[in-house]
Amino acid sequence: MSSWWVNVFGHANPRINQRIKDQVDQLEHVMLAGFSHQPVVELSERLVALTPAGLERVFYTDNGSTGIEVALKMSFHYWRNSGRERKQRFVTLTNSYHGETVAAMSVGDVALFTDTYKPLLLDTFKVPSPDCYLRPEGVSWEEHSRQMFAHMEQTLAEHHQDIAAVIVEPLIQGAGGMRMYHPIYLKLLREACDRYEVHLIHDEIAVGFGRTGTMFACEQAGITPDFLCLSKALTGGYLPMAAVLTTDRLYQAFYDDYSTLRAFLHSHTYTGNPLACAAALATLDIFAEDNVIEANKALAARMASATAHLAGHPHVAEVRQTGMALAIEMVQDKPSRTAYPWQERRGLKVYQHALERGALLRPLGSVVYFLPPYCITEEQIDFLAAVASEGIDIATRDTVQVAMPSGLYPGFRDPG
Ligand SMILES: *Cc1c(COP(=O)(O)O)cnc(C)c1O
Repeated sequence: MSSWWVNVFGHANPRINQRIKDQVDQLEHVMLAGFSHQPVVELSERLVALTPAGLERVFYTDNGSTGIEVALKMSFHYWRNSGRERKQRFVTLTNSYHGETVAAMSVGDVALFTDTYKPLLLDTFKVPSPDCYLRPEGVSWEEHSRQMFAHMEQTLAEHHQDIAAVIVEPLIQGAGGMRMYHPIYLKLLREACDRYEVHLIHDEIAVGFGRTGTMFACEQAGITPDFLCLSKALTGGYLPMAAVLTTDRLYQAFYDDYSTLRAFLHSHTYTGNPLACAAALATLDIFAEDNVIEANKALAARMASATAHLAGHPHVAEVRQTGMALAIEMVQDKPSRTAYPWQERRGLKVYQHALERGALLRPLGSVVYFLPPYCITEEQIDFLAAVASEGIDIATRDTVQVAMPSGLYPGFRDPG
């Protein structure tokens, strides 16, 4: 699972190592307030060129959650600067995850991470997710995603005057169990956000950089969001950094004489760190030089064929895939898709079995998933599929003793 979805080209990759070594001999860090440096300029230009047309400005933070905070604050602030003070609220999908800081938690909906802090959170609109695992039998992903959009349309129609932005994880709800949906939803959402004058924030922290089969998930819907949040694979899994891309129109709402106090006063000490920029530039070079997106197609096909047999497993409700992410949903009862009680921790059995076999599978509740680095080989995919099959057999074989293992993750509660 790519070390929590960040490592795309392996550990100690010679090309990324070299770039960081060269950079550390030039400049380790300088504040990005009133100053700039060559790697951050180059990275900004490369990101603007790589992302869909219209995203022309880049803001840096030092992790994904703070990238989300920036997009939320900037959207809110844009409407204020534009004389639309009422537009203060955010719309989010059920089962979504956008990080761990307080505003990022507010737009998330994975109870495990947010319930404890409920009194601290912003009041958001939660709209039912287009999650295609929940589609009725016989209905296609596209049709289900399209139908589920009616909920979003209704919320926007009723409340758009109070809404600053809609935030989504495009195509894959990662921490919520690798639940997936069709790009038509994003297309409809873009149209509606334009109609209702609401910003669209794409959190591509997990899905950006090739995970869904295209460089960015928004490409599959043919749209440009107002904010594109990137992190995780941005630096190849080397150093913490996030980038928030936005439009020139948004930028211009803040750019003014100092005395008007319209500026976006948000800074993190290590914003735009040159070493992280160097890692990101080397990562982008590898994507280009090795034609990675194209090469991944064969790997994605191998992931599909190596796991296809699991769809027939008596305790597997679904094997689903979007590009280089594949998920296997274990259930207690297949016909009714009844989930295992979370206390049984079936996924942990898979994890433990995989570790014994020398593989790192770290299920989300009862969802076993592959999110491999792109340097994986077809043989390694076959091995992982075999290990997952064995693990799923063991995990679903019989009743599991409910026990909270100590040692592994103290205090960790698994929602299933
Ligand atoms: C990981 C993740 C975040 C948070 O990023 P951190 O760097 O862990 O703060 C936000 N959104 C999504 C979709 C993520 O997967």
